[in-house]
Amino acid sequence: MSEEQAVKKAAAGKPAGNPDSGDSKPKKAKLPPEIHIRVEFCKGCNICVHACPKNCLALEKSKVVVVDAESCTGCALCELLCPDFAIWIGEIEE
Ligand code: SF4
Ligand code: SF4
Repeated sequence: MSEEQAVKKAAAGKPAGNPDSGDSKPKKAKLPPEIHIRVEFCKGCNICVHACPKNCLALEKSKVVVVDAESCTGCALCELLCPDFAIWIGEIEE
């Protein structure tokens, strides 16, 4: 069997999912929650950045920014702890 055939055979036998992660489960189709920020309300206190268990947030020029939206679980800790109502999760009409 050639090297190319061996690679194709190995790939065909692998389940869906990220082949590099060792994750054999197929990726969920569910979208991550939406993280909304009202920049003018943010005073850059860093509370949400430290509270986020998934490190989705960071401060940039003293304002919060989303750095990893994909990892957000929707726990809403950031929303609950923000003293200035500058960040919220999900679809809320402004
Ligand atoms: S909802 Fe939870 S995981 Fe998502 S950004 Fe806020 S604290 Fe982080
Ligand atoms: S907790 Fe609120 S005010 Fe503080 S950095 Fe986060 S979004 Fe800005």
